[in-house]
Amino acid sequence: MGRFTNEQLLKLQQNLKVGRCPNCGYEGNKDVCPEEMHLVSLDIDSRHTVGLESLGSYPVVMAVCPNCGFISLFSKKFLCR
Ligand SMILES: [Zn+2]
Repeated sequence: MGRFTNEQLLKLQQNLKVGRCPNCGYEGNKDVCPEEMHLVSLDIDSRHTVGLESLGSYPVVMAVCPNCGFISLFSKKFLCR
């Protein structure tokens, strides 16, 4: 699993403009998860055992509200350019 450097994390934090938490209304900075996450989709049409070759993945950055734990996901492609 990839991990962001401190420099990247700072840049990501600056690019996040989520504003108020949609759940609890907290307005402070969100905690950016230092690990690169991947949304994984399964090929649900093939009804056999799932193998790695049938997995699709999409790189995302996860930001967590430190007050209530609400999670926001961003495409890494947009935040890391
Ligand atoms: Zn919250």
